Amino acid sequence: MKKSFFFRRHAILPVLLAIGLAGLVVSSFGADEGVKPPPANVEPKVIDPGPPPSDAIVLFDGKDLEAWESDKNGPAKWNVKDGVMTVTHTGYIHTKQAFGSCQLHVEWATPIDVSGEGQGRGNSGVFLQSRYEIQVLDSYNNKTYFNGQAGALYGQYAPLVNASRKPGEWQVYDIIYHAPEFGLDGSLKKAGTVTVLQNGVLVQDHVTILGTLKGGSLKYEPHAAKEPLSLQDHGNPVRYRNIWIREL
Ligand code: MG
Repeated sequence: MKKSFFFRRHAILPVLLAIGLAGLVVSSFGADEGVKPPPANVEPKVIDPGPPPSDAIVLFDGKDLEAWESDKNGPAKWNVKDGVMTVTHTGYIHTKQAFGSCQLHVEWATPIDVSGEGQGRGNSGVFLQSRYEIQVLDSYNNKTYFNGQAGALYGQYAPLVNASRKPGEWQVYDIIYHAPEFGLDGSLKKAGTVTVLQNGVLVQDHVTILGTLKGGSLKYEPHAAKEPLSLQDHGNPVRYRNIWIREL
């Protein structure tokens, strides 16, 4: 019957949220492999993002890491040269300023010299509120589990398509993030959502974030309404430039 079908469709999200509220959602790395085809390859359009919009908070303009600090306390130690910052195996960095819901623009490039494979090739990540990772990875002819490739919400959702450029080429993430909301008792009031365009191609379409990934499990952990944005040091010399954010 139409009515019950309608009800069932619209009951899925509350059920997911109820599971999240009640406890763990087990992250299923690679569960799609052999079941679903990999995200199709899409050749992205050539885009020149240009300078930030006038009301953006510029987090990296190519000059210095003034807006950032190291997760290991003290100044961020990533290398800055020729308008680009590069991961230097000195730990994650995070913004001094904290943010909630936002529009975020990040340009990144994996090393032109390809080494390693799977998660070991050009791995970094954009951590919204220091906990929800939009994966940065060399996903050009590089097999890994689908919800761990570039454009994935890591451990949760594979990208809709693989819009990756070749190693060494600049790529763009435009991210629209709505932060989760928690009650005073720490309970989840509203799940977070995220939309991601990679190189102008939609790869995450307003997906519902299932929680913080820890030890292979997903569970919402209450946190402040505003938290720093962080970038991952996964040991690979990934480069970043032109990072800006607009608070929503
Ligand atoms: Mg990563």
